[in-house]
Amino acid sequence: MIRKLISRVFSGKKPKASRHEPAVIPVSSHGITRDRLSSGSRRVCETLQGHGFKAYVVGGAVRDLLIGADPKDFDIATDATPEEVRRAFRRSRIIGRRFQIVHVMMGQETLEVTTFRGMLDEKTKTDEHGRVLHDNVFGSHADDAARRDFTANALYYDPATEAVIDYHHGVGDLKQKTLRMIGEPRARYREDPVRMLRAVRLAAKLGLMIDPEAKKPIREMASLLENVPAARLFDEMLKLLTSGHSVKCITQLRNEGLHHGLLPLLDVILEQPMGEKFVMLSLKNTDDRIRQEKGVSPGFLFATLLWHEVLAHWEKLKAKGESKIPALYQAMDTVIDVQGEKLAITRRIAGDIKDIWALQPRFEARAGKRPYALLEQPRFRAGYDFLLLRAESGEIDMELADWWTRFQKVEGEERAEMLQPEQAGDKKPPPTSRSAPISATRRLPCAPPSAPWPICRKAASAVVPRSTGRPLSALPTSPISSTR
Ligand code: ATP
Ligand code: MG
Repeated sequence: MIRKLISRVFSGKKPKASRHEPAVIPVSSHGITRDRLSSGSRRVCETLQGHGFKAYVVGGAVRDLLIGADPKDFDIATDATPEEVRRAFRRSRIIGRRFQIVHVMMGQETLEVTTFRGMLDEKTKTDEHGRVLHDNVFGSHADDAARRDFTANALYYDPATEAVIDYHHGVGDLKQKTLRMIGEPRARYREDPVRMLRAVRLAAKLGLMIDPEAKKPIREMASLLENVPAARLFDEMLKLLTSGHSVKCITQLRNEGLHHGLLPLLDVILEQPMGEKFVMLSLKNTDDRIRQEKGVSPGFLFATLLWHEVLAHWEKLKAKGESKIPALYQAMDTVIDVQGEKLAITRRIAGDIKDIWALQPRFEARAGKRPYALLEQPRFRAGYDFLLLRAESGEIDMELADWWTRFQKVEGEERAEMLQPEQAGDKKPPPTSRSAPISATRRLPCAPPSAPWPICRKAASAVVPRSTGRPLSALPTSPISSTR
């Protein structure tokens, strides 16, 4: 057996992609030593293997290591049942109802441990379009590999032997920079239409080409995304926006016809002609921050994505004779009202978004004590960054942004000399949304406090709200999708 495997690996011949005979690729060939794994994932595999189970690092982490990228997180696949996994680790809990997975805490790390999934069969429940609704059957290692989406995502790394186990020629596809679907692409998209979005995101993020067979049906099957629950789509959107390649992903989604009318958030992003430049600048800014491993505030991100909606409403209200500031607050409420529910924005994030928006008119006041007071605002930095983006996109005069850049730099008299003369009719600045006894805080029209931020742990790891410094992963996670 071993001789057969070795000869297959070294013969240079393409390994046979049989579900039952994987290629076992030794470390001498792929070069990934076990010290490249996180210590938590190593320990989880060792412990499970010590109890006599199979346990491997699987999926994105193996793929990323093979292409020389840093994995975001390390997932583990095992033949132990969730209950057996839970018993093996003191700090662990079972999550998910339809398909249970186990979260194992190792120091700062939380590892997601999944029991091998079984194949779908005629008993598998689907909706009328073929989307899999319940998926709670355990299976063999080979079944688990066949249930994964792309060949590059069906690779298993065994820390004990340092071998990569490859059922579907994923290593070869990765070498050829190809993202290839396991099985028949149309059937796999029907089972789970989110795979179309994953194809686009992963190809953009990893610099892979989507195999033509998997790419061809996307345009015609795009409408299947309409049947996917909004929270699941939003999870995927958030992953996409925080992938570090959001501009490329969004452009690609548009090319594939995957944006129109399917994802409310994408519509918001792409269907506001005057806002597109602003949004693209903001996404580029987000991509840069993520690549530099700086935190990204979801409040800031969504404040930018929705700003031109606010502007449009604000203009309408002003045209109807509403005065400036109450009109802004009303416009903010309306936009959060409409989008908050669709996007499942939490109360806290809605607060952050509104703070940033509410600060914007205050940057116009450059006389008296007001600029000094604004500098002291806890959200000043986010408000100023937002102002810069508005200026860069051409929405407001760059002169205003430059003034604030300089006002922060200089001190004492030089700063005082920058102030503009008081205008007759200058009023006290409006309070920020949080300190204001205005409807903005009384009526937070977003998801209730118990509503989960529909975000996967993986996407969340890149997103750190500035207000607390607490990663979103510490917040409740969404229910795990039933079709993975
Ligand atoms: P990322 O780098 O963004 O985390 P990933 O491929 O690791 O990408 P995850 O959502 O973390 O994505 O999923 C982990 C693994 O689970 C994938 O590599 C894949 O094997 C499997 N998987 C995830 N989503 C699906 C799906 N919709 N259908 C089939 N398999 C999936
Ligand atoms: Mg992952």
